[in-house]
Amino acid sequence: MHEHVFVLDPDVQQNYPAEWGSEDDRVADAVDKLKALSAQGIRSIADPTVIGLGRYIPRIQRIAEQVPELHIIAATGCYTYDQVPFFFFYRGPALSAAAGVDIPDPMVDMFVHDITEGIGDTGVKAAFLKCAIDHQGMTDGVARVMRAVARAHRLTGAPITVHTHPDTQSGLAVRQLLCAEEGVDATRVVLGHSGDSSDVDHLCALADEGFILGMDRFGINVGTTSETRADTVIEMCRRGYADRMVLSHDAACYIDWIDPNVLALMTQWNYLHIHDEVLPYMRARGVTEAQIDTMLVEVPRRYFEHNEAY
Ligand SMILES: [Zn+2]
Repeated sequence: MHEHVFVLDPDVQQNYPAEWGSEDDRVADAVDKLKALSAQGIRSIADPTVIGLGRYIPRIQRIAEQVPELHIIAATGCYTYDQVPFFFFYRGPALSAAAGVDIPDPMVDMFVHDITEGIGDTGVKAAFLKCAIDHQGMTDGVARVMRAVARAHRLTGAPITVHTHPDTQSGLAVRQLLCAEEGVDATRVVLGHSGDSSDVDHLCALADEGFILGMDRFGINVGTTSETRADTVIEMCRRGYADRMVLSHDAACYIDWIDPNVLALMTQWNYLHIHDEVLPYMRARGVTEAQIDTMLVEVPRRYFEHNEAY
């Protein structure tokens, strides 16, 4: 429910392409990794790569054609922890004060177009919306993107995934803006990266609001471990919250945000870790096949099937 194929900074890639190297080799590497994932029985991944993360659908199409057994679900939205990208900086609501009238945000039409018409001329439609809030909290830019995502969601019914920072309880700020102010139904929102926290009481409170919790960074052992992440899921299952969680790695075939020498040390951060290591650990500690099925199949199905506008 949260796997990238590539996470890139296109501006850097276009000017310093040496690390990326051969396009053909990168595509072949991605095909190999995604084939290995699908060989585990995974039929679909939701790829929340949007503006700010280097979304480039023609490259994904080239890969998808070679892994027809795997459905790669594309997203639209905008990823920032602070201000909007400069493209949007002097457009839409940024001009409202000077103009003396409310100017609609062009992001809304762009996101709606991606969902209803398709992304560029690729013919690929986005099926969900993505935005982010991190430790900086609800900055003006973060709030602007989140409102645009909320409006595109209400217009199209496409569900939402929010990158959150649970250690600062940013899910509460998401609830205030998305749900209280913009009228978004919490059951149609994944609070991504909830599994970075082991504060089970806080996570249960968000689940009680209706949110789906993304336990979606298995293999990122920064400030935590896979065992700690799994223990949180196990306790949430024990308390009856399997139908409020999804599992994922937030992995990528290649991400240029991290030094390749450091990436090489992150040995559990790959698409296979959950099935190879995490699920056996959970099963040994009382998580049932039915609960695993709920987290991996039923909740994602409910998320994507519940897609009417309102
Ligand atoms: Zn991600």
